[in-house]
Amino acid sequence: MDSEAPRIHWHSASLRERYGLPVWRLGIDAGFSCPHRSDDRLLGGCRFCAPDGNISAYQKSRPVLPSVEAQISRALEFTARRYGAQAYFLYFQAYTCTNAPVETLRRIYDETITAFARACGQLYETRGPGLPPKVAQRLRVSPQALKGIIVGTRPDCFDATKAALLAEYAQRGLEIWVEFGLQSSHDDTLSFIKRNHDVSSYRAAMEIARHAGLKRTTHLMLGLPGESREMMIESARVAARTETEGIKFHDFRIARGSAFARSFPAGEIVQIHPARLPSLLADCLEVIPPATEIMRLSSDFRPEECIDLHPPLDKHILAHLVEKELIRRGSRQGWRFDGGLGGPSLSENGA
Ligand code: SF4
Repeated sequence: MDSEAPRIHWHSASLRERYGLPVWRLGIDAGFSCPHRSDDRLLGGCRFCAPDGNISAYQKSRPVLPSVEAQISRALEFTARRYGAQAYFLYFQAYTCTNAPVETLRRIYDETITAFARACGQLYETRGPGLPPKVAQRLRVSPQALKGIIVGTRPDCFDATKAALLAEYAQRGLEIWVEFGLQSSHDDTLSFIKRNHDVSSYRAAMEIARHAGLKRTTHLMLGLPGESREMMIESARVAARTETEGIKFHDFRIARGSAFARSFPAGEIVQIHPARLPSLLADCLEVIPPATEIMRLSSDFRPEECIDLHPPLDKHILAHLVEKELIRRGSRQGWRFDGGLGGPSLSENGA
């Protein structure tokens, strides 16, 4: 084993390889609702889901802008000015972003791509004057900076016609990802957290997306009430066997306003201690294929949005601790993937 090679196959590193520079996600609320919530987005839904339907932390930290173009302009200016960003994915993130007839989806996706191009065109012209030349120069973002689209959705809100629509954008040269919430591969857990779909619908949606040539991300939540360590690792195995191209791990957090936040004071649920995460994540990474791109290891909330008994680990510190744990084991992502290189069994490494 090359001890210098990265232990985790990070999505960010893969994007840098594919495009030669960092790619930024512009999280968008395009006005979708969720089929699992009431029309006004406020009632029903998964027990862990915050009322805002997982809009990006960046968008949450500022006043909500109803227009997609305004959202894009603001995020574009911020990332270009502060980081010199020159490559982007448009990320349809809030609620369920395939929850509309296919022609409506086409209109929304097309309008958003057009809004991106327009925002790029206006950025330097409207914001540059008056800025020092070096800063203004960073605001020259080409419409070709758009590299792809990401669509977050539920497995039961996806079908072959929606997959075919997204495949059209792939044919136009964009990298297209569909993000499916699975959270757990155990139907009892899905029922307990009120996901309102089962594991078989996840597998079916993954297959539809694969046939259409789309890249797929699976969301998994670690520490859900009632789940043992082995159950969580099994969820990672189930996702791995679908050959999912990407995985996002979330640690279970009690979001204020969620149904779990209401049941928490009654003692119905407990939270995983952050100190358990590094070795648990190392276990999960070991059963995931080496080629799967890891997009995140923990949830992304601002402190005031959750009920936390223990301060959560900073995401960079967590990543460092997971890497350290893999090094300690002489292991890496994919080390125990079925059909992979093979390695020590769970009991041998004391997990
Ligand atoms: S499907 Fe997504 S948006 Fe809808 S309630 Fe569940 S987590 Fe929230």
